[in-house]
Amino acid sequence: MSLTKSQFSKRNIIIGVGIFCVASLVVAFALKSIRTNSLTQTPKAAPEPIGRIAIILDDWGYNSKGCAFLEKIDIPVAVSILPELHYSQDMARCAHQNNKEVMLHLPLEPHKFSETYPDGYVILSSMTKDEVFAHLDKFFKNIPFVVGANNHMGSKATENRELMKTIFSYLHKNNFFFIDSLVSSDSICESVAQGEGVSFLRRNVFLDNEANSEYIKGQLDQLAKRARKYGFALGIGHDRPLTQKALLEYGQEMKNQGFDFVTVKELIDYAKKK
Ligand SMILES: [Zn+2]
Repeated sequence: MSLTKSQFSKRNIIIGVGIFCVASLVVAFALKSIRTNSLTQTPKAAPEPIGRIAIILDDWGYNSKGCAFLEKIDIPVAVSILPELHYSQDMARCAHQNNKEVMLHLPLEPHKFSETYPDGYVILSSMTKDEVFAHLDKFFKNIPFVVGANNHMGSKATENRELMKTIFSYLHKNNFFFIDSLVSSDSICESVAQGEGVSFLRRNVFLDNEANSEYIKGQLDQLAKRARKYGFALGIGHDRPLTQKALLEYGQEMKNQGFDFVTVKELIDYAKKK
């Protein structure tokens, strides 16, 4: 049977429409099943932690012994490194390789020095703005992967509005956060940081002012208590064996209790939303 030209093109149209309808049904069915699957496969949201905790460990750079601890510890401790020491850069690299936040431990003037430092190592209230900027530049450039700073000493400096304003203007310009170690009850850092638009938190608990395991465990309990009450807490300890041992022993236990260990940056962001 032969078809006329018009019968031939009619037949093509009918076949075309047929294919289109079948294809549409297949696509619609596939989309529906993808949607259904993605609904049934969505993982349950993790339960809200009973508190968020960040921990900074200070005074790194004198040696590289603590690198083994950074390899072992699986909670996100921040490593705050004194600039220009023999192992400052090695420790920054070790911290970064082990996914730990790197901070500059900024030497600031105390009311009373308990140790001696080389000339020009500590930022002093008597320095000019340009001298302060030069120090900050030199220190931050000395620590690779650095994302923020906290103060080493600084009871005098953190009470000095003009000096902290200069320091915070530098931090703001370079997008570094600042944690007030809070070594003076008269610290003006918080209001100056707000004025200069610097991401900021203050230390809540010092973990290891006594070299005693029971004491350190008690301070970790204090930190947990505060995190439970306010939703978050920030602790500061040091590059010391007993502190490292306590974190290795109790970190997991605190996680099992429902506390969430976060980076300092994450804690600042969380606290901003509170
Ligand atoms: Zn320190």
